Amino acid sequence: MKKKINASVLVSLDEVASCVSGYDPDSLNVNDGKKIIKKYLESFRDELSSETVPIRESLGRVLFTDLISNINVPPNDNAAMDGYAFNSSVFEMKSEEIIELSVVKKIFAGDYKLEPITADECVNIMTGAPMPVGCDTVIPQEFVEKKNNTIRFLRHAVPPLANCRLKGEDLTLGKPALLKGKILNPADLGLIASQGFEKIEVYRKLKVAFFSTGDELVPVGQKIKDGKIYDSNSQTIFAMLTKIGVEIHDMGLIPDNFNLLEKAFKKAAEIADVTITSGGVSVGEADYTKMVVKKLGDVAFWKVSMRPGRPMVFGKIWTDEKKNSKDFSLLFGLPGNPVAVMVTFYVFVRDALIEMMGSSEIKSNLLYVASSEKIKKKPGRTEYRRGKINYCDGLRPKVSLTGSQGSGILSSMSQADCLVVLDDDTLTVEIGEYVPVLVFDGIM
Ligand code: AMP
Ligand code: MG
Repeated sequence: MKKKINASVLVSLDEVASCVSGYDPDSLNVNDGKKIIKKYLESFRDELSSETVPIRESLGRVLFTDLISNINVPPNDNAAMDGYAFNSSVFEMKSEEIIELSVVKKIFAGDYKLEPITADECVNIMTGAPMPVGCDTVIPQEFVEKKNNTIRFLRHAVPPLANCRLKGEDLTLGKPALLKGKILNPADLGLIASQGFEKIEVYRKLKVAFFSTGDELVPVGQKIKDGKIYDSNSQTIFAMLTKIGVEIHDMGLIPDNFNLLEKAFKKAAEIADVTITSGGVSVGEADYTKMVVKKLGDVAFWKVSMRPGRPMVFGKIWTDEKKNSKDFSLLFGLPGNPVAVMVTFYVFVRDALIEMMGSSEIKSNLLYVASSEKIKKKPGRTEYRRGKINYCDGLRPKVSLTGSQGSGILSSMSQADCLVVLDDDTLTVEIGEYVPVLVFDGIM
């Protein structure tokens, strides 16, 4: 099956990089890295095609066109409480403190009896039932005294127009109910249903291929020998991609071997819109990823001044070394260390994928939270510390660090729910000082 984003609209990486002053592909600060990626992706959004899916499969997908309301919701003025509906002009017609009205009928949700009533009359009405013609106010049943077919209530018990939900007050016929580019959430599914739509048109899923590189790696389920470690990056990358909702192509483990890596990259360029790798982008002798990418790709940057995650490639790779066909894939070559992989994913890859998926509502999940401890760092690079947000003293959240911050220490990442962002210029954070935190999940 062919992907694909229309390559002809894409600008070259050189053109893009020129948007960053003092551009150095071998060492870029985080914000410039983000700027380059964002600029490069601007041309992608409208190039993805669409598909129509049943409403229950649309959760987390991106809406392809504005959804215009084809009915009013609610369809009629209706009662917001169980009680008695009447016309508020009665307040002007009567001067007494106690209003008395005769009950002329009963109306339930789902009924449709809208014959008018007179100003002296009222209707016993249930929540959701349409208001009869002339009625504009509902007095809850708890506030009335009922005797035979008459109700009595204090005139100040209810203001005019109270407890009546107006026709179209939620969604108005002909107006947009949802805008193109919205990532559909549970409320959106309800809203689509309230319009009676069974299916909805969303952007097709982005195709993302990934593989781990390294001779030391063993897949889970196999016996491990001395010198080897289990491949954990495949699992974290899989999980982070699953949360975003892309079409995942797991290409497994590729050894540190030029030819096998070249084959893997060619395949990825053929099948995927985006390729994510882990490992091999450093300067070690077995770091073949870098060499293959040089042969098959075009790279915007190799290193970012951040910790963890310094070696990190952003570029594109083609299916062949001529590098001019439309068969290419965007490339995020992430570092090998397990935490560095996750941090670079949250900092660079997540937003980029969401934008490529067609969403106009990228949020970096950045909040400001008070630090519960003093934090120190060196200048000149952005550091991401693993943090946990706690609500220990009442409702005000505070963030604390989760322990050892080595880039291979996955356990402190497992305890974390956010990254504390210490930008290039930060040297210390005092107790109680507000720091930006990048929340992993939850406020997409
Ligand atoms: P590299 O960038 O390839 O030199 O890898 C850096 C560190 O990350 C090394 O200690 C690797 O063993 C480790 N590493 C690389 N890939 C993985 C992986 N898929 N799972 C777990 N650890 C890895
Ligand atoms: Mg390696």
